[in-house]
Amino acid sequence: MFINAHSHKNAQSPDEWVCRNAFHFLGVEGLNKVGYPVSVGWHPWYADRFTPDSENVLASFLKAENVVAIGETGLDRSVSVPFSAQMNTWTFHYHLAQKHSLPLIIHCVKAYYDLVPFCKRSSVPLLFHGYRGNPEITQTLLECEPVWFSFGKDLLSRPQSRALFAQIPVSRILLETDNSGLPIARIYEEAAALLHLSLEDLQGEMKKNALRFFGEKALALF
Ligand SMILES: [Zn+2]
Repeated sequence: MFINAHSHKNAQSPDEWVCRNAFHFLGVEGLNKVGYPVSVGWHPWYADRFTPDSENVLASFLKAENVVAIGETGLDRSVSVPFSAQMNTWTFHYHLAQKHSLPLIIHCVKAYYDLVPFCKRSSVPLLFHGYRGNPEITQTLLECEPVWFSFGKDLLSRPQSRALFAQIPVSRILLETDNSGLPIARIYEEAAALLHLSLEDLQGEMKKNALRFFGEKALALF
């Protein structure tokens, strides 16, 4: 089995378990019907359009049985959306995740230090997806027990990400395709080579990690 922690696409093969980023327009019933695990959340790029009404819609999504995580949401200092709006949206999601004991999938660009205080006190697991922190912040985040890191296409093409991947214990890692269009098996192949593990051993590690991150019930939604 290939665990794909974050994707914007459906599973591409029968042996892939994917947490798909769901879209806001589906509604609770639409979400229930899609028949695969989803995460729900408001991307920071659209934080200036997040209203009290969106808060209610998002909270109502949690009634759908296949919602296994909150996100992706987070902070992004590379876009012009006001940071205060991003922080409000992020904080809402953070509290929602704590309240419902759901893991959180984070989009973070140039804002790792802003998230450290949340990382220190979260009672639910937090996943920095498409992780690109520098070695210093990585060390700080590793000291925060709830923090996880996921890697995707960067492992194939970005030397800094390959080095970073080697710095993080495998017990804190998940793999993803995001919106790359690559098969998850291709990411596993690269990760296995970097870790000097067989594909089967890596699959075993990722399954163990997914059980801890998403929980047993979520993994049963295959
Ligand atoms: Zn994404």
